[in-house]
Formats: sequence, C-alpha cells, structure tokens
Amino acid sequence: MKRALVIGGVILLGAVFWFNQQAAGQFVFDRAVKSAVGRDASAELPDGIHAYLCGSGSPLPDADRAGPCIAVLAGKDAFVFDAGSGAIRKLGRMGFPMEKLAAGFLTHLHSDHLDGLGELMLQAWMAGGRDTPLPVYGPPGTEQVLAGFMQAYAIDREYRIAHHGPAVARPGGFGGVARILDPSKGNIAWQANGVTIRVIAVDHRPVDHSYAYRIEYGGRALVISGDTKRSDELAAFAKGADVMFHEALNPAMVGQIGSALAAHGNADGAKIMADIPDYHASPEEAAEVAQAAGVKALVLYHLVPAPPIALVGKAFLGKAEDQFEGDLRLGNDGMLVSLPTRGEAVEFDDLL
Ligand SMILES: [Zn+2]
Ligand SMILES: [Zn+2]
Repeated sequence: MKRALVIGGVILLGAVFWFNQQAAGQFVFDRAVKSAVGRDASAELPDGIHAYLCGSGSPLPDADRAGPCIAVLAGKDAFVFDAGSGAIRKLGRMGFPMEKLAAGFLTHLHSDHLDGLGELMLQAWMAGGRDTPLPVYGPPGTEQVLAGFMQAYAIDREYRIAHHGPAVARPGGFGGVARILDPSKGNIAWQANGVTIRVIAVDHRPVDHSYAYRIEYGGRALVISGDTKRSDELAAFAKGADVMFHEALNPAMVGQIGSALAAHGNADGAKIMADIPDYHASPEEAAEVAQAAGVKALVLYHLVPAPPIALVGKAFLGKAEDQFEGDLRLGNDGMLVSLPTRGEAVEFDDLL
C-alpha cells in the first residue's frame, strides 16, 4: 500500500512536471509569435544604410558561419550581395525585410558565393511577395547560373502555385532575371530612390570577372570587396566610405592546414591549401587597403580559416590591428552594421 502510494506520488509529480513543461513551452512560443511573426523589425531602424552580415564564412564547412553574404537596407530598398550556403536562413532569423528586396548582386561566380541563390529567389518570391522575377546583377555567366537554379526549382514552382493559388504564389514572381555588369563601361550598377550602387573589377584570377561594390545613400557609403587579392584600385574605390567589408585569408594558418593534410597523405587537399592564398588578401593586406581608403571601420569576412574562438581570432589577425587606425572587427553571422544618415557614426549590433 505504502509502496503503491510512493509510486503514485512519483507518477503524479512527473505528470505535474510534464504538464508544466508543456505549458512553459507553449508560453514561450506564444510570446515569440506575438513579438516576431509578421512584424517588420527593420521599421525601427533609423534612416540610413544597414548591412546585415548573413554569411561570414568561406567554402570550408562551418557550423557557425554561412557562406559569403551581405544584405544591405538603404533607405526604402534592400539588396543582397552574394548568397552563400545557409546565408538566406540567417537573414530570416535576423529580421531582414525580404519584401523590400529590390535586387540581388553577385561578386563572382565561385560556387560558395551563389549556392544559396535558389533559396534567395524562393524567399524573394514567397516571403517577399514578388510578381516579377528578382533582378540579379553580376558578371557574364550570371544568366547561366540563374537558368540552372530556375530549372532545378521548376517542379517546386508548380507545387507551390497549385497549393497556395496564383493570387499568393504569383507565377510571374518566380526566379530571377540576369543583369550583366561590365565595369569597363562605367561604374554605376544601380541608381534609384536615392541609392547609388557602384561596381569595379578586382583581381581574383584565374576567375575571369570578380567585382567589388560600393553602396551610397544619404551621404553614407559602404564597400564590399568580394574576393580579391590586395588591391590599390579597391582602396581608391573605397575612398571616403564609412565602412569596408573585406575578405581575409591567413596564409600561415592555411599553410599549417596544408602541411597537416600532406602529413596524413592527402596530397590533393595540401595542393588546394597551397593554391588558395595567391588569389585572396591577408588580414594585414585588407587592413592596408582600408587604411589607404581612410574608412572608419573595417569588417573582415569570408574568413579562411574561420577562427572558432576569439583567442584564435587574435592570432588570425596577425599584425592587422597595427596597420589600420579605425575600428577593425572580425565579422560574425548576425552582425548588423548601421550608418544612420543623421550622423557620422558606425554602429554595431548583433542580431543572432
Ligand atoms: Zn572566389
Ligand atoms: Zn569565395
């Protein structure tokens, strides 16, 4: 009898705990839905340029860093520069206003910069409510990349139209339309609603066309390096900008990884590690370019190898901090960099 009572008590306690857990979980969910769903978090941001770092990583797999991606809200319009793997999901979590997306831009056609393009076009269509295809600006070949993604998503397109109806899944809003940029014919890539986006070619050979972009709005400016070696042209292009996002690869660390791969008999991996430093910039070189440009802040992204903890980040930077007088930061997914038009400040926030 006593034993039955004890067992009954334990079961009752378990049930109470389980019930409360469910109730507590439901409470948390209710609050999250109320505060986040359907709300435009970007409406609270001041007028200006806001850069969402949606992907600070590289082709090397990393649980914390999506592939290269920087989304920019400038005034009323938003743009996405590169769409690395996993980046578009991060954008959703950061409260990026997909319905304000006016265009996508590609820096170059290496796969790590575009393998999230299918997700970007899908979100622009369904979450962004588009009824025309998303314009995607990029180098020659962008049309081939878009056509491939659209073919891969063609079956999904039919399913969504059939399920939600053409009033919601507007058939004309599916996919993207390529806009080929040729920086030798002038550097203005976009101009509307007070936003000017400029483009120049940078050096990422043997990649034929690799571009850097400069976004200007309300007297503020930010520059995105894309993938490039150390570039004096980029420094000149970035003159007077407030912030520069620059790719960074630490050659000594990549060399160490190569040596370790070779020691384990992975000659192909060692060869790749030996090849990649020659078409990227080191943290020190990025710092020199930012210093020459006179920007207020430098955010390193496309980090190779990605430092897993802050201490390794210090080692990754090497002497870069001595070469740049402004605010130097290692980028991380979720970083928001704001340039309000009401002042000169460069403001940082973390949205993830
Ligand atoms: Zn590249
Ligand atoms: Zn890359």
